[in-house]
Amino acid sequence: MRQVFQGLGASRGSALGRARVRLPHALEVAEEHVGADEVEGELARLHGAIDQVRTGMHALRERLHGALAHEVGEFLDLHTLLLDDPELLQGLDALIRTGRYTADYALRLQRDRIVSVFEAMDDDYFRTRVDDIDQVIGRIHAALHRHVTDMAGVAGEILITDNVAPAELAQLQAQGVVAIVTAGGSTLSHSAILARSLHLPLVVGATQALQKANDGDALIVDGGSGLVVLEPGPDDLREHRTRERSYIRERKELHRLRREPTRTRDGHDIQLQANAESREDVAEAHALGATGIGLYRTEFLFLQRHELPDEEEQFRAYRDVVLGMSGRPVTIRTLDLGADKADRTGLALRDEPNPALGLRGVRLSMARTGLLDTQLRAALRASGYGPLRILVPMVTSREEIAAVRTRIKLLGRELRTQGYEIADYVPLGAMIEVPAAALALPGYIGKVDFLSIGTNDLVQYLLAADRNNEALVDLYTPLHPAVIRLLRDVIRLAHARGKSVAVCGEMAGDPAFTPLLLALGLTEFSLHPGTLLEVRRRIRECDLAGLKARAPSLMRARDRADIEAWLST
Ligand code: PEP
Ligand code: MG
Repeated sequence: MRQVFQGLGASRGSALGRARVRLPHALEVAEEHVGADEVEGELARLHGAIDQVRTGMHALRERLHGALAHEVGEFLDLHTLLLDDPELLQGLDALIRTGRYTADYALRLQRDRIVSVFEAMDDDYFRTRVDDIDQVIGRIHAALHRHVTDMAGVAGEILITDNVAPAELAQLQAQGVVAIVTAGGSTLSHSAILARSLHLPLVVGATQALQKANDGDALIVDGGSGLVVLEPGPDDLREHRTRERSYIRERKELHRLRREPTRTRDGHDIQLQANAESREDVAEAHALGATGIGLYRTEFLFLQRHELPDEEEQFRAYRDVVLGMSGRPVTIRTLDLGADKADRTGLALRDEPNPALGLRGVRLSMARTGLLDTQLRAALRASGYGPLRILVPMVTSREEIAAVRTRIKLLGRELRTQGYEIADYVPLGAMIEVPAAALALPGYIGKVDFLSIGTNDLVQYLLAADRNNEALVDLYTPLHPAVIRLLRDVIRLAHARGKSVAVCGEMAGDPAFTPLLLALGLTEFSLHPGTLLEVRRRIRECDLAGLKARAPSLMRARDRADIEAWLST
């Protein structure tokens, strides 16, 4: 029977498929034992499954790049750590050896044990980790039964579940899942952001769909409106086809913009640079006509490993980017480890009480002997192959920029005497992501060649709202008069002093914010290649003079509602 459920559209696209219902924590395993002679076989079965999960996660990590690596890497790291946790492994072995339980039941018992310990803790962090435990245990369980619940069978299906982790999304899509519907979740969660960059339709908050749908039901999901139709009728099918056609048309239209200039309706050229972390990002940026790499996040060279990349390895990575952009400028950002970008090399502190306010970015680079110099030497050497700029993250004070400048001069001289060919001058820029750096800018703008505004952090530090805390999604927004004013002031001062300034936070890649940034005078955007064409299209629709004429009314906005009203007119 036809039923319609309304959720929230979190990632656009229309999909038609069979339902695959995954009920929450579906580890319903009956108590079962094995004989004494079967214990070793059961242990081997369990460890085979664990190895399979480890290899799968590793392969997924390798396949990810760009924003995906950023978003998903964190979760994969955590899940790999949980998977290798000696307590988990020894506990499972002991249950099979001494209790003679099947691997399935041992998993269930061990899951319940860990979860009850976590749930009893008076700490939100551990309580939220229960989902991660469930996912890791669920993965092992699925691997134990790969021959029974063949995941290849999900091709063409729509997954309906309570929640989906970012780490799972890419894998599910690769397995052929065409859309996802969740009972929980928010449109601003990491999963939602990731689904959008994967172009995988996602509807969140559709509780009823989870309760009513059964495996195999036909389903239409519209990730734009949030509508989920169970057992659709002829009208639904017709509408789905119309929507599908319009999405395809839109993608084709965007594709046509690959070779078009990024120019406003009234003839002003705007620069679109790319944020990149991998070779694929660089190739895509090049193909889409990005004017350069505005942000190369070097920390991704340091994640997923135990030893530090040496000068040679870093040099080759940076040189690849420079060569990949064939003459367009490349901005190498020095290491921004710390806070949510935890590494395994032992560089970032593990137990900071307040990591976002801790030893991260340039603070860490300067605190660890040799770290900054190695990175600067590698970047300077790469500057011999094409235009390269160096960008410093988490700048708070003039002294930090001055210190990096001194090291660049010194190392440049050293490299030349060692016979390296390096650029005559390598521009140095500061990230504006700490409010103090924005407010103190007049005192050090003469010391930098360019600026890049990191709105992801600037918003979090200005509004005291953790960028990763889903409970603060309403608070964490660039649509706040304080953010708008600070952006205006930084852009205005930079231009008055003849310095180039870009916005490289996620805000730059969201076409909804494009008119606002143009009205504030921004002429350089740095964004993930996946959103470049949408922003180009939005810029081409804008009339810059008109937007600038409306800037004073934007500056008078008193709250988010005023700014939203400004954007919608
Ligand atoms: C930012 O803070 O806006 C930024 C681009 O840096 P990251 O997201 O790497 O912290
Ligand atoms: Mg930042």
